[in-house]
Amino acid sequence: MKSEKPWILERSIRKLQEELHAAGFRPYTARQVFQWIYQKNIQQPAAWSNIGKEDREKLSALYECGCRPVLSVQRDDQGTCKFLIGLADGLKIETVLIREKGHHTFCLSTQVGCALACRFCATGTMGLRRNLSAGEIVSQVLTLKKELGEDGAKVNLVFMGMGEPLLNYANLKPALQRITAAEGLNISPRHVTVSTVGILDILAQLEIDFPQVKVAFSLNAPENELRAKLMPVSQREDLGTLLAYFKAKKRRQRLTCEYVLLRGVNDSPIQARALARLLHGIPAKVNLIPYNENPSLPFQCPGEEAVEAFRAELVRRGLTVVTRWSKGQSISSACGQLVVRM
Ligand code: SF4
Repeated sequence: MKSEKPWILERSIRKLQEELHAAGFRPYTARQVFQWIYQKNIQQPAAWSNIGKEDREKLSALYECGCRPVLSVQRDDQGTCKFLIGLADGLKIETVLIREKGHHTFCLSTQVGCALACRFCATGTMGLRRNLSAGEIVSQVLTLKKELGEDGAKVNLVFMGMGEPLLNYANLKPALQRITAAEGLNISPRHVTVSTVGILDILAQLEIDFPQVKVAFSLNAPENELRAKLMPVSQREDLGTLLAYFKAKKRRQRLTCEYVLLRGVNDSPIQARALARLLHGIPAKVNLIPYNENPSLPFQCPGEEAVEAFRAELVRRGLTVVTRWSKGQSISSACGQLVVRM
């Protein structure tokens, strides 16, 4: 249920400082609050022990505190967990923790559903319900960090959950600021990846605002005609224009190109060769993602031999390729499988 009070996770440090100053708090209280919320991940004011009792009560009266609630968790036997999170207006999102050797990955959502309706993606069947707020984005990170507890392993954040992140840049930007700032979650931007179908003007802005954040481009076809059939957005954002942008752009990190392999659609050796030609001159690595089948969608995963043949064609042409057999398929938390029925 929606609270009448503002949610503290929507506040930047500056905004909180202004509001607490106006409410008569000491100048350093906002920083103390940020430390509890983002560095210690303790969300309830009653536990903020270096802040006086009276001030803690005042903070509780002024703000709604705490993360959005976890409604359910599905776990597979490899440690991948899918969280169903309830939002204040009754909508729900999914967010995923993937445990790996030496590091963990948080797969985060930026929208409830998605308007782009990529044909192979379960989220796309939902349509767009709404954008997530900055608070709802950072709340997912805090929830997944809480799940990890004191595990000191490195964390990678990937915006590959529900939604197209760049179509919610107004909220993604303050969330990324909070995630990467020293007084916030203090996660290096080099450990953050934004995955996009390629919304060119906003992508360019992201790369100005966060030059160290990695970009993953959801490519999925070696030519625009097929891509437009699989990803209607390609009718507006032409592949040639996008690739010209990637070719011209100097970036510190290699571009990651994601290519979901669909049996009989985009997985032939001829298409692999066309893909290699397309990427010529772009410092890129290719993530091959054998399709995670979904009973409601008409696509199939290629066999292992076809995947390997596709990979080999790319490698032969000098590309760096990683095949990502997705984790979490048994709990439908793999790439393209997130969907919530309201
Ligand atoms: S693949 Fe990404 S952009 Fe396409 S429908 Fe799914 S969530 Fe939206």
